[in-house]
Order: sequence, then structure tokens, then C-alpha cells
Amino acid sequence: ESSSQRWHLLSTLENARGELKERVYWEERIHRALEENAFVLMVQPIVRLRDRDIRHYEVLIRMQDDSGELISPGAFISVAEHSGQILQIDRWVIHQALDVLAKLKGKEISLAINLSGPSLHDEDLKQYLAEEIITSGVAPEQLILEVTETAAVTDFATARGVLQSLRDLGCRTALDDFGVGFSNFHYLSRLPVDYIKIDGSFIRQLLDDNESRVIVKAIADIANGFDKQVVAEFVEQEAQLPILASYGISYGQGYYLGSPIKASTAFALNENHDFA
Ligand code: C2E
Ligand code: CA
Ligand code: CA
Ligand code: CA
Repeated sequence: ESSSQRWHLLSTLENARGELKERVYWEERIHRALEENAFVLMVQPIVRLRDRDIRHYEVLIRMQDDSGELISPGAFISVAEHSGQILQIDRWVIHQALDVLAKLKGKEISLAINLSGPSLHDEDLKQYLAEEIITSGVAPEQLILEVTETAAVTDFATARGVLQSLRDLGCRTALDDFGVGFSNFHYLSRLPVDYIKIDGSFIRQLLDDNESRVIVKAIADIANGFDKQVVAEFVEQEAQLPILASYGISYGQGYYLGSPIKASTAFALNENHDFA
């Protein structure tokens, strides 16, 4: 065995140890954040392009550290998916989102929540949601559950069953990050979803790249043909809007139309500190 092979083995081991340490570190922080309620809900408007009307918002979680700084889900969601903590996080988000909606009673607002892949296999999720909806007094159609195309095609039968049961509860459903998950339009027609969210990577390149325009138009055509509402993510520039509208895309979401802000600020809920 050469010394370079030995060197390689040692550095591989060290990397693995580093990654494990990193994973354990974040698992511990997630654990603490769940215990101390140190997560925060952000909301980002989903804008109806026809008249710029805003009734829907996507809920995006942040972890709040001791100094009050907000940590993006990119840092902890994949760790939480590995560890199983995501099941608790998803339930926490559902509970908090219903709490927000309950406080906004009478307003015509709905919140879209991200449901992770592992939650599709959470057998008690439907029961949890049903009870939470009843306790909150919120109309179930005010909740939209987003599942990524990738998670949906990874276990199509399970995803289809869960999406159907969400609809049976009266909730609405969305297929998130559509276009990157290598599924085909046949899958799309067979999934019980109300909204298709076209992945932001295509929308971002809309003005520069003909291929992206062809893809976005094709997705919008098919989705409309199946009577699904289409949402374009990552709308970052005014000039994207007429193109999206010409493709029959009804909704847009992105920094140009509104960045995520704290739910407590967006809905002026400061008197209550549950999600301050
Ligand atoms: P996503 O569901 O695709 O959410 C959209 C992400 O794009 C959000 O990032 C949002 O802040 C960002 N974004 C919005 N508009 C624009 C834009 O115009 N340009 C660009 N470049 N980005 C934009 P965020 O909040 O960091 O969330 C990242 C991902 O983490 C989400 O992707 C979702 O997969 C996951 N996530 C966020 N919140 C939750 C949650 O409460 N539960 C679960 N399970 N996952 C969540
Ligand atoms: Ca989403
Ligand atoms: Ca998305
Ligand atoms: Ca995404």
C-alpha cells in the first residue's frame, strides 16, 4: 500500500468525521430549537398576476439563534430530514400556520406549507392535521400543502395517497419545484394537486435562455390543460411578467413581487409572542 493511498484513506476518514460532527452539531441545535420554540415563520406573497391581488402566502421557516439572527432552512432541513426531526418541524409549522390563520379569522387568506418527503410517510399526519384544523377553527381550504415533484415521484403511490387524503380533508395541494424532478406529464395528470409551482431555475433564466422559455411554456400548457393553476417561482424582474402572463401562468412568487418577511410583521400579529 503506497503512502498516497494511505494519505487518501486518512483524509477520507477525516472528512467523514468532519461531516458527522457537523451533522451532530445541527441535530443538537434543531433539538434545542424545537424545545425552546426558537423557530420563526416567514411568509412570502404568491401574487395573482392578472391584478396583483395577494391572497396566498408561502410559509418559510427560519431558526432563530441566541443573538436573534435568522438561520436559513438550507442549513438544517436536510439534516432534519436525515435525523427524522423534520416530522416534528413539519408538525410545528402546521400548528403555527393554523394559529396565524385563526388570528386572521374572517380574512380571505391562505397559507402554503412545505411538506417534506419523510412526512409523506408519517402515518399519523392526516389525523394530526384533521385535529389541528378542527381545534383551530380554520377552514381547511385555507391550507395549501406543497410537496416537491422529486418527493412525489420517489414514492409515487404513497405521495398520491397522501395528497388525496389532504384533499379529502378539504385542504389544497401543490406540486413544488416542478420540472427538475425527472417525472413526466403522465405523473402530473395522475397526482391530485391544485397548483403546479414551476421551479425557480427555469424562471430565473426566462429572459436569457430560449430553452427555459420553451420548458416553462410547455409545463404551463400541460398544467392548464389538466386544470391546475400554475405558479412561477423566482420572479425577480418586471420584464418576466408579460412572458409569464402570455403563457397562461396565473401566479408569481419571487423577490420582485415580495421577499419573505416575518409572519408577525406581515400580518401585524405583534400582540402575541407565539411567533414573534
Ligand atoms: P422552496 O419551498 O422551493 O422555497 C422557495 C425558496 O426560494 C425560499 O428559500 C425562498 O426564500 C426563496 N426565494 C423566493 N423568491 C426567490 C427569488 O426571487 N429568487 C431566489 N433566488 N430565491 C427566492 P428558503 O426560505 O431559504 O427555503 C429553502 C427551502 O427550504 C424551501 O424551498 C423548502 O424546500 C425548504 N423549507 C423552507 N421552509 C420549510 C418548512 O417550513 N418546512 C419544510 N419541510 N421545508 C421548508
Ligand atoms: Ca415550497
Ligand atoms: Ca419551490
Ligand atoms: Ca426548492
